[in-house]
Amino acid sequence: MTDKMDDSSKSTDELKAQRHKARQQKVKAAVDAKIAKAQIEKGVLLVLTGNGKGKSTGGFGSITRAVGHGKKAAVVQFIKGNWPCGERNVLEKVGVEFHVMGTGFTWETQDREKDTLAAMGAWEAAEALLKDDTIDIILLDELTYMVSYHYIELDRVLEALKNRPPMQHVIITGRACHRAILELADTVSEVQPIKHAFEAGVKAQIGFDY
Ligand code: ATP
Ligand code: MG
Repeated sequence: MTDKMDDSSKSTDELKAQRHKARQQKVKAAVDAKIAKAQIEKGVLLVLTGNGKGKSTGGFGSITRAVGHGKKAAVVQFIKGNWPCGERNVLEKVGVEFHVMGTGFTWETQDREKDTLAAMGAWEAAEALLKDDTIDIILLDELTYMVSYHYIELDRVLEALKNRPPMQHVIITGRACHRAILELADTVSEVQPIKHAFEAGVKAQIGFDY
C-alpha cells in the first residue's frame, strides 16, 4: 500500500472502516458537546413506572450504587405484604434506614381504613426523610399506588418533593404514576413488559422476585 492510493483503489472493507470512523467521530463530537453542556449538579427525581418487571429492582440498584460511594440512603416501602425482602437483608446491614408500611394493601386486607392509616404512617416517615439534608438518596417504593388510591393526597406528595433538600435524589416506583408526579420528575423510565414468566405459570420465587 502507498500513501498515494485514492479511495478508488481501497478495498470495500477499508472504505467501510473509513466511513465508520468518520461517523463515530461525528457521534463522539456530538456526545462530547452534550457532556460539556450538562454542568448542573442537583438532586434528581427519578420515576420508574410501567407494567414490566424491573422497577423496584432498579430502585434498589440505585440505592446500592449510592451506598457503594459512601452516600446515606433510606428506603420507604409502601405496600408490603408478608414476603421477606432480599434487598433489605443486605442494605440494612450497611446502614440503610428502612420504613415498611405495616400491612399489605386493599386487595389483601380489604380494610380501607386500616390501609389509609398504614399508608399515612409510611408517608410521614417519607416526609421526615424528605426534610433531612443528611440523606442523599431515598427510594419511595410503590408510592404511586398510594396516590392513585387516594390514600395520600397528591398535593402533599408534590409539596414534599418540591421542598426537599436541593441535592437529595429521590426514586419513585410503581405502575400508573400520576401525571403531576411525572411532570415534576427529572427522569422518567417506563418498563414495558414484552413477556413475563408469571403468564406461563411461573410463581414469584424467593431470591429472584423478592
Ligand atoms: P421487581 O420488584 O421484580 O423489580 P417491579 O417492581 O417492576 O418488579 P411490581 O409491579 O412492583 O414490579 O411487582 C412486584 C412483583 O410482581 C414481582 O414479584 C414481579 O416479578 C412481579 N411482576 C412484575 N411485573 C409483572 C408482570 N408484568 N406480570 C406479572 N408479574 C409481574
Ligand atoms: Mg415494585
